[in-house]
Amino acid sequence: METAINIALAGNPNAGKTTLFNYLTGARQHVGNYPGITVEHKQGCCLHKQQGLSIVDLPGTYSLSAYSSEELVARNYIIDSRPEVLIDVVDASNLERNLYLTSQFLELGTPLVIALNMIDVAENRGMEINAEKLSTALGVPVVPIIARSGKGVDQLLDTVIATARAEQPPQPTILRYGSDIDQALNEMIPLIRDRDLLTGSYPDRWVGVKLLENDEQVLAQVREREPELSLRLEQRCQEVTDHLQQTTGVYPEAVIADHRYGYIKSIMRRNIVTKKFVGDRLYTSDRIDKVVTHRLLGPVIMAGVLLGLYAFTFSSSTFLVSLLESFFGMLSTTVDTFLDDGPLKSMLISGVIDGVGGVLGFVPIIMFMFFGIAVLEDSGYLARVAFMMDRIFHSFGLHGSSVMPFIVSGGIAGGCAVPGVMATRTLRSPKERMATLLTVPFMNCGAKLPVLTLLIGAFFADHQARYMFLATLVAWVVALCAAKFLRMTVLRGESTPFVMELPPYRIPTINGLMIHTWERTWQYIKKAGTVILGISILLWAMMTYPGLPQEEVAAFQEQRQAISQDLQRNGGNDRQTALEALSARENSAALRHSLAGRIGIALEGISQLAGIEWRTNIALVGGFAAKEVIVSTLGTAYSLGDVDPDASDSLTQRLANDPAWNPVVALAVLLFIMFYAPCFVTVVCIARETSWKWALFSMSFNTLFAFMMAVGVYQLGMLLKLG
Ligand code: GDP
Ligand code: MG
Repeated sequence: METAINIALAGNPNAGKTTLFNYLTGARQHVGNYPGITVEHKQGCCLHKQQGLSIVDLPGTYSLSAYSSEELVARNYIIDSRPEVLIDVVDASNLERNLYLTSQFLELGTPLVIALNMIDVAENRGMEINAEKLSTALGVPVVPIIARSGKGVDQLLDTVIATARAEQPPQPTILRYGSDIDQALNEMIPLIRDRDLLTGSYPDRWVGVKLLENDEQVLAQVREREPELSLRLEQRCQEVTDHLQQTTGVYPEAVIADHRYGYIKSIMRRNIVTKKFVGDRLYTSDRIDKVVTHRLLGPVIMAGVLLGLYAFTFSSSTFLVSLLESFFGMLSTTVDTFLDDGPLKSMLISGVIDGVGGVLGFVPIIMFMFFGIAVLEDSGYLARVAFMMDRIFHSFGLHGSSVMPFIVSGGIAGGCAVPGVMATRTLRSPKERMATLLTVPFMNCGAKLPVLTLLIGAFFADHQARYMFLATLVAWVVALCAAKFLRMTVLRGESTPFVMELPPYRIPTINGLMIHTWERTWQYIKKAGTVILGISILLWAMMTYPGLPQEEVAAFQEQRQAISQDLQRNGGNDRQTALEALSARENSAALRHSLAGRIGIALEGISQLAGIEWRTNIALVGGFAAKEVIVSTLGTAYSLGDVDPDASDSLTQRLANDPAWNPVVALAVLLFIMFYAPCFVTVVCIARETSWKWALFSMSFNTLFAFMMAVGVYQLGMLLKLG
């Protein structure tokens, strides 16, 4: 067998790359619609007619600029790893838009084969596409396929192998960009060629085009290699820019983009697409969208869908949750019976079982929630949500591209702010991006869900779904208002326009839903078993050491003996109870004495303004490491320092019965947790994306803001005697 041919799959998001990749390699893989999820490339291999093929699935992009991480990943892979053939997966039902990226591949001169995918969809819409004409016009092979069923894939691979074996590598296609830019390019190209400036990696003309587009990455490389030449080239670019600004008022980037579109239009004009049935026939998707994204009806339906999602989640998971709760309760009792008293037993029960168990107990809820979201995502409904929110977003100084980062961060439920922060890279206006980036941590990420569920379950159990919906609504309202506030103060500036296309509705496949649900649930479980376990044990240690001083232990011992003797002499239930109460007092005193306890008590001075007591403070401090830890730490704090020592009580019951808690306190704590400082990983991520200054701003701004809300709610609630 000959050596494997390296090929890469590239194309617009949702063109079907991953579907084709899975069909070819048989790999289980994520099929989804978010930016930020397929940022890393995925590799696999297959065999076709004795020829091995090594395949990479690149992230979906609309362009090859340096604006977003996806674009950079795709472009750098093509340039650095030099795949022998690039398969450009093109959505036939959206040909014109998809060809924009194709035109850029042609300019790069990479050996290219176009996989004209989704011809079934195109046909359903009455379109017929002449692949031969398209191939002639573009000068590269075009093979129609249906990635979902594998139709045409054999022929595609034949073509790929033939292209890889071709003697002559293709020449980069030369696009015209109008006289001003073309003239500048003609002057720049000899300079670039003369010094071999990056020409090992890129075609010389491409380097020139990127410099004119003001491409940060290429600019940085050029400055580093040839500082002097770079000055000359940049000066030439500046001249063109000034000239274009004076004559037409636009930047070279826009002129270049316009000419690319012009090139595609000229190709499309060669009767490549014929419409079989014309008229204003509405496609099924469009017909559904008439209702679903209707100005008034749309939001009502959206609210209904969300409420339905939460109702489904809570009703389907109740049984499993209580099963898990009793399982961990039993586990505690077993360890309690079989181990001698001592640090090991205390660590196992209070650190490991209460901590990790507390987090794992929410797995059923998380699982059903993720399942529901997978349905919304795979069917294409989530894109409609983004579309509808876009109208609202503009009035709050955000951008349509801000919607996805919000949803990724948990805008519906259970996301994560880290990919959310990264997804803001698709925003091109720095101020809109910053405003988005600073407000996405307000969403209810997967780690906050258990905390919300716990508190809602303990204090507002009758209407769980409704309160969950409310929590989502509040998160959005607060995030949008905060964004508006930032855009009116520190981030004042213009807003930029946004156009969005809706992918057609699709019926989700069972397989896709299962993989989706399981991937995310497993991530949650894995985190509970590793990071959360570590932090739980650390916090347990902080809550246990240093133990009570010798003389206090002795004092408790004395009292215990006194009661025991009394019990032996006279018997009686009240003395048994007194004995238990004494142990509880000792535990509580020990917790107060511990490192974490002291921190919690020190903070109580301020936190009591919001009705938050010291044991909760410990959990809130721990929650900065990871929000899941709040539940596990509450578990540990309320089992170590509990007045009611019944070990099998669930945390929900313990909180509901604790005198320091009531619905008003719960609400204040809930709001504080929803909006205070993002978790540590998110803060680091914000710092990396912007600067430490903004990361610190985010921490202090959010915490202060959350605290003011908590205080407000608590004081008002107490004033109205609701507690
Ligand atoms: P990617 O973003 O390019 O990786 O696109 P995906 O592979 O995730 O595909 C997006 C959606 O298009 C999925 O729901 C696929 O099932 C669907 N899809 C992919 N190829 C075809 C096709 O040839 N025909 C039809 N009808 N659907 C397809
Ligand atoms: Mg993909």
